[in-house]
This record gives sequence, C-alpha cells and structure tokens, in this order.
Amino acid sequence: MEEPRMDESIEAEYTLEAAASCPRCEKKIETLLVVRLLRTRVNFTSALPRRGQVMVCSHCRAIVGGSLGGLI
Ligand SMILES: [Zn+2]
Repeated sequence: MEEPRMDESIEAEYTLEAAASCPRCEKKIETLLVVRLLRTRVNFTSALPRRGQVMVCSHCRAIVGGSLGGLI
C-alpha cells in the first residue's frame, strides 16, 4: 500500500477534487477511505459478488456515497 501508516482495515484512500463535507461529522472532507466488504453469509440463490467496497469519511468513518471505476 502507498501509505505505510494506513490502518490495515482500510483498502485505499482517495482524494476529493473539490471540497465536500461529511453529512455526519460536518467536517470538511479531503479524502475518502475505502473499506472492503467481505461476504460472510449469502442466500444460495444470490448472484451478489463475494466482495464489495464502501467509502467512509476519513474523520468519523461514517459511510458516505461514492463509486469506484474499474473495480478489480
Ligand atoms: Zn465524518
């Protein structure tokens, strides 16, 4: 990973190109963190993928919206 001090539960960090504020802590967000989702239970008829990601505020870790292009 590019940031040696990064918490291992964080998959990546992205920088916002324009100012935004977190809906929960109301702080200005400059970076969003990507946290990996690992599927632990699933209905056998489900077509959902084994993995996913959520984007969280770098201050309070509230889940915020976003999307990632070119997923794995
Ligand atoms: Zn926040």
